[in-house]
Formats: sequence, structure tokens, C-alpha cells
Amino acid sequence: MKKILYVLFSLLIIVAGFYLSTAVETKGQQLYKDKSSISETKAAGVQIKDTKFKVTMLDVDQGLCVLIEADGHTMVYDGGNRENSSRVVAYLRKNNIKEIDYLVASHYDEDHIAGLIGVLRTTSVGNAIIPSYQSNTKIYSSFMKAVESAKSVKYANAGDSFKLGNATVDILYGCKGDEETNNNKSTVVKVSYGDVSCVLTGDAEFQTEDYLVRNGAKLGCTLYVVGHHGSSWSSSDEFVKAMRPKIGFISVGVANQHGHPTKRTLDTLNNNGVEVYRTDTQGTVVFGSDGQAYAVLTEGKKFNNDVSVLPPAGTKYVINMASKRFHMPDCKAVANIYGYNIGYTTKDRIEMVNEGYIPCGYCNP
Ligand SMILES: [Zn+2]
Ligand SMILES: [Zn+2]
Repeated sequence: MKKILYVLFSLLIIVAGFYLSTAVETKGQQLYKDKSSISETKAAGVQIKDTKFKVTMLDVDQGLCVLIEADGHTMVYDGGNRENSSRVVAYLRKNNIKEIDYLVASHYDEDHIAGLIGVLRTTSVGNAIIPSYQSNTKIYSSFMKAVESAKSVKYANAGDSFKLGNATVDILYGCKGDEETNNNKSTVVKVSYGDVSCVLTGDAEFQTEDYLVRNGAKLGCTLYVVGHHGSSWSSSDEFVKAMRPKIGFISVGVANQHGHPTKRTLDTLNNNGVEVYRTDTQGTVVFGSDGQAYAVLTEGKKFNNDVSVLPPAGTKYVINMASKRFHMPDCKAVANIYGYNIGYTTKDRIEMVNEGYIPCGYCNP
């Protein structure tokens, strides 16, 4: 099987080579990409499945969680929000990942660290890298407790680097203490594998981006995990020009209340020739590479995600109109309700029961 795939892969390289022979490509050669159909995506998945280097941006709605795999070693950069924590753990299980070599928390906002708590509680973590500031939130305290289970915990320090299989991870920015916002304290890393590389900036905004550009950080990369969910205060034109990425991944919730990603940022990426993939419309997205060629695979949205991701403001319970059961909005069972059966309510428990609805036995609403 491996041999056949290798032959197929080589053929594809040759074919792609003809098509791309006139293009000026200094880093990586794009073989295949998919933006639309699920069946095509599966075909591409065969290739990506066998690549030794993978960057997976999980669909965690409004939040960020990136899994990096290199030669069997793994790193998790952020873990998404509380509501989607179970998705992250489930994804690790499904992919048979029992150990995390490195866990990086970019900064202490809930949509980045809440999901890491679940990872720390269920998976063995080697090294944790955290930003050197404190927060007075509950989620921060829970995270700091959970992170004690890692074998080592270190502060992110610009200039440090470590190996992840044959990949090199360079910390380009670590919190210095003079940042105007917590987002700007985000740990910025660059992961390089052969000719391809990926820059992750968490929620860093212009201040940190400018600092990196001014200090001549080696920002050139193939993949840019777009800062702060594509907000208007990140991804300055100068910063994007310094990175020259081919691909941009944006993690955002469907119809999120922040308006992410914004037109300003999408225009900047577009004007710089960056090909954008996003979780709100394409679900989990995967960048796979052998160190030279690369491909992007999109998992596609689950059938009901378009309606179930962000319940309307004031929603108390999510209803399965078919079974007449009602759930807490973060109940696992909600993900299994067909989109057209989903209902939302602001009524309280007693009213619901009086109207003949049944509380879910799992989440006990
Ligand atoms: Zn965020
Ligand atoms: Zn943030």
C-alpha cells in the first residue's frame, strides 16, 4: 500500500511540476488543495494521512487549537474554548495520540486555554510552555492547576528553540511585560520542517507584530495561522509581507459576535496572495507536507454545525424538536442533532417540563 501511494505521490509531483513549472516557488510546491467537496477531500486525505508533518487547525468554533505532528511527535498550541474542549480530547483519541511532547499556551484568554485543561487531564504532557504573566480569572487558576501535571513547565522565552521529531520550533516572541494588551503577550512560534514552515501568533496584535518586524525576526513561512481570529487589529500589511505565506488558516466561529474575520484582514491576506482556509465554513483544516511538497485538506462542516455552533443570545437550552429532549447548550449530544431538528429556548426548566419536554439524562439541564 505504501509503495503504491509513494508512486502515486511521485506521479502527482511530476504532473504538478508541469503545471507549476513557470511559477516562481522558493518554498514548497503545492500539489493538491480542496475547498469544496467532501469526496475530493477524502481523496486528498490519503496523501496527507501519510505525510510526516501535519498542522491541524481544529474546528473549535470561536477559539484556537492547533495540533502539530512531526515524525510521530506532537505539539498542541492552544486548546480552544470550554464548550469545545471535548472535541479536542476526542480528536486526540480518534487519532491515537496518547502523549503530547509540547503543550503551548499562547496567552491566558478562555478561548485559548480552556480546552488545554481537558488535554492536560486526559493526556500525558511532556513540556508545557506558558507566557510569563498572571491573570485573575478563574480559568487561569484552573489552567495553572492542571498544568502541574506536565513533566516540565517553562515560560516562553524569545530565542529558545527545540526539536519536534525533525521539525524545529523557534520561539519568536515571549511575553516581555510591556505589552498594552494580553493578546499582545501571545507566544509566537515558528515551526520548520524541511522547506516548509508555519508561524503561529495566538491573538497577537499590531504591537507584537511590529516588534517582530522591527527586530528582524525570521518570519518567512509557508503557512500563517492568522492572528486573533482574523480581527482588524492583527495581520498588518507589513507583517504579512514579512512572512510571505502561501496559505492562511483562520479559526473562527460561525456568525461570531466579534465579526471575525474582518474584511480589512481578508483584504490584506488576499492582496498578498495568501490562500485562506477557515474553520467556520470548512471545518477542521489540515496542512500536510513531506518537507517539500504540501497539500491542504478540509474536513468539511458537520451537517448541523451551521445552526448549532453559536446559539442565539439568551439561549438557555437547546431542543431536539424530534425527540422533544432539551439539553444544556454545551451538551455533547447537541452535536448529534440534525440541524433541521434543532431549536433554542430562553424558557426555564419548569416551563419546559410543563410543556412536555424531557430533560437530557446526560447533561441534566
Ligand atoms: Zn482568541
Ligand atoms: Zn485573546
